[in-house]
Amino acid sequence: MYAKNKSGLELAVSLKTWSKKLVLYTDGRNYLTPVEKEVLQKNQIPVISKRISVLDGKNEKLLNIVFSDNKKQRCDAIFFVNGYEQQCSIAKSLGCKMNKKGVVVTNRLQQANVPGLFVAGDVSKDMQFVVVAAAEGAKAAVSINKECRKKIVKPDNICVTFPFFHIS
Ligand SMILES: Cc1cc2nc3c(=O)[nH]c(=O)nc-3n(C[C@H](O)[C@H](O)[C@H](O)COP(=O)(O)OP(=O)(O)OC[C@H]3O[C@@H](n4cnc5c(N)ncnc54)[C@H](O)[C@@H]3O)c2cc1C
Repeated sequence: MYAKNKSGLELAVSLKTWSKKLVLYTDGRNYLTPVEKEVLQKNQIPVISKRISVLDGKNEKLLNIVFSDNKKQRCDAIFFVNGYEQQCSIAKSLGCKMNKKGVVVTNRLQQANVPGLFVAGDVSKDMQFVVVAAAEGAKAAVSINKECRKKIVKPDNICVTFPFFHIS
């Protein structure tokens, strides 16, 4: 597991449920506290903090991790956690409230604090998965539709129904 800019402790311990052979590579960083080191040790997760110079592979398959001293470590796969940041400042410049992780805070219908602004995907606060981004997009679409419906002027005593969407 590769974790340079963010602590890899949590993911490393989670991945231990998938594989017994797991190593945490910090690529030259030494951020682990004594308590974290102990947790890793108890979970039999060795930590290698040597600088990594290159990942060596063949036919799109990873073979080795090559360190700056040119020593190699055989490796079948790498999972990584490395932190994230917004790719552009649109959300901030529109006045969106951001949380301490730097993502936009929304309500459960993907509505940001700015009226009329809906946010979905990695830019918003939930987990960062394709399926979550798609679901948030669908939720945002339904709530945008609901907002637009408020603007429909309907004559008195005529009930306008929208059978496809239901928001409680
Ligand atoms: C290495 C990696 C592996 C991942 N593996 C998985 C996985 O296995 N399963 C899973 O479910 N999720 C995975 N994810 C997460 C998943 O990719 C994201 O959750 C998902 O792509 C979020 O979709 P999105 O539309 O919000 O953002 P993105 O897919 O990032 O789309 C945002 C788009 O906006 C564009 N953009 C940015 N700024 C601007 C701008 N100023 N103007 C115009 N366009 C702009 C970008 O170029 C990009 O095309 C992975 C992510 C990474 C980085």
